[in-house]
Amino acid sequence: MSQEKTIFKKIIDKEIPAEIVYEDELCLAFHDVSPQAPVHVLLIPKKEIVNVASLEEEDRVLAGHLLMTVGKVARELGVDQDGYRVVANCGLNGGQSVDHLHLHILAGRQLNWPPG
Ligand code: AMP
Repeated sequence: MSQEKTIFKKIIDKEIPAEIVYEDELCLAFHDVSPQAPVHVLLIPKKEIVNVASLEEEDRVLAGHLLMTVGKVARELGVDQDGYRVVANCGLNGGQSVDHLHLHILAGRQLNWPPG
């Protein structure tokens, strides 16, 4: 990949700091720098994938692993009992600002629906 690294790739490569809450061989979770809820964690694959629309057949296992990991991270954060929201912003209208697939895990307060 010839483009400049995204901020999340720099976090994966440990070039910039993040408050990491979970890490395994395939993915990484860390606190969002601008939290929108009392608990706001981002779960990302270590592989460079732009967003859910960019997932390919070869990413099937990784995509499943990412989803399976949400519950594990939520339990470790202690938010699994009260509930939480999982969001994947995709593209311009989705409000995606970082071009590296990420799942927002939001918790710690009653979240509104529909979202803004
Ligand atoms: P999105 O708008 O869905 O692309 O979400 C990107 C998220 O990344 C936003 O919630 C930002 O606050 C968050 N973010 C940007 N830079 C960092 C960083 N260095 N560490 C943690 N979170 C970040």
